[in-house]
Amino acid sequence: MSALNVDIAILGGGCAGLSLAVRLAKSNLSVRVIEPRKEYVEDRTWSFWRTHSDPFEDCVRKEWTSWAVQGARGETIRKSSHMRYQTIASGVFYDKACDLIEKGSKTSLSLGVSANSVKRSGSGWRVDTSAGAVIARTVVDTRPPTRIPTYGQFFLGSEIKTERPVFNPDVVQLMQFRRSQSVGVDFVYILPFAKDRALVEVTSFAPQNPGRNVFNGWLDVEIEALNPGKTKTLRTEMGALPMEAGFFDPAPDGIIRMGLGSGAARPSTGYAFTRTQIQADQVARALIRGHVPNTVLDGPMNRFMDRVFLQVLAAAPEQGPALFEMLFRNAPSDRLERFLSGSSNFIDRLSVMTSLPPIPFLRAAVFPT
Ligand SMILES: Cc1cc2nc3c(=O)[nH]c(=O)nc-3n(C[C@H](O)[C@H](O)[C@H](O)COP(=O)(O)OP(=O)(O)OC[C@H]3O[C@@H](n4cnc5c(N)ncnc54)[C@H](O)[C@@H]3O)c2cc1C
Repeated sequence: MSALNVDIAILGGGCAGLSLAVRLAKSNLSVRVIEPRKEYVEDRTWSFWRTHSDPFEDCVRKEWTSWAVQGARGETIRKSSHMRYQTIASGVFYDKACDLIEKGSKTSLSLGVSANSVKRSGSGWRVDTSAGAVIARTVVDTRPPTRIPTYGQFFLGSEIKTERPVFNPDVVQLMQFRRSQSVGVDFVYILPFAKDRALVEVTSFAPQNPGRNVFNGWLDVEIEALNPGKTKTLRTEMGALPMEAGFFDPAPDGIIRMGLGSGAARPSTGYAFTRTQIQADQVARALIRGHVPNTVLDGPMNRFMDRVFLQVLAAAPEQGPALFEMLFRNAPSDRLERFLSGSSNFIDRLSVMTSLPPIPFLRAAVFPT
């Protein structure tokens, strides 16, 4: 590739980079997405409560109106008449995004190309890539964060097909709490597609990743405990997401940071898909108008609440299951779900706060660590 001039270079064609490119595809801006993968495979599913419209609504694989949390006090099932918990398989998402990018007259995707250094060049930027240089007026960096967060969500999951009908396809098992496998809060997540098909995921909210060995053994035990009969593993996914209030992976002044490196994961839960769509809307709107984009997703009040919640979890992980159970029992219908997905108004936040025991939260609020 000889030096190529574009308005916008997007580094990374994952969830954030593709979401932004799709929104810019209808504009007059020339856009190049630089992505090291040679081809996309179905490497994850994105699940979330639908709170916003986005270009990927027709990619939803399944949706649920009931979800459950299970702990020492038994099972709490929440149902909603209008909130939907939806899941999108990444393969369908990647296909749709690539299609829309291809249809854009000035948008393109370079697969199999890595971005290396990014340096100032005149009034723009020079991005050195594995296939030559790209000169861009604006650079949006969606590459994974390099900074290690102080707290994270770590998980390993397999989508399995079982011989026996062991799942309830109508209820998502958000958190089935388990005895500690890590030094944090541990639980199993089950996304049931059918009576004999589900994504079963073992998850830790913890200061460090418990590691693949712990997760492998733990996942085997959980699947075995379902008494599933002969089981086929269709796909496996694993992840490590930052859970830190105000998390931001530094970028040189003037480069727009998006995605997980720019606080897209909700600090207290790790949910990131909806927030990435909101961020993509904000950034695309600003770039099209020639403004400097605002990538910030949380106001000071949300950041404060997330900081307090995470501090309580980190200080007393053994209390974590009871806290989540309390939230799911006490928070008014839909408000908690909107809060967890990352879009919340003042009343949502207040409802969530008043559903929790005041003492540990007041202590954490007054004495930050
Ligand atoms: C397995 C898994 C399951 C998840 N499930 C959910 C879920 O159910 N709900 C939810 O809300 N969130 C979920 N998340 C969290 C979050 O939504 C995803 O991680 C999401 O993909 C983050 O988007 P992103 O664009 O920031 O990162 P990515 O999608 O990881 O994109 C980053 C891109 O940068 C590219 N890249 C890396 N190095 C370079 C380089 N040198 N040059 C150019 N590009 C580079 C990568 O190849 C990648 O395509 C999940 C995460 C994982 C890992």
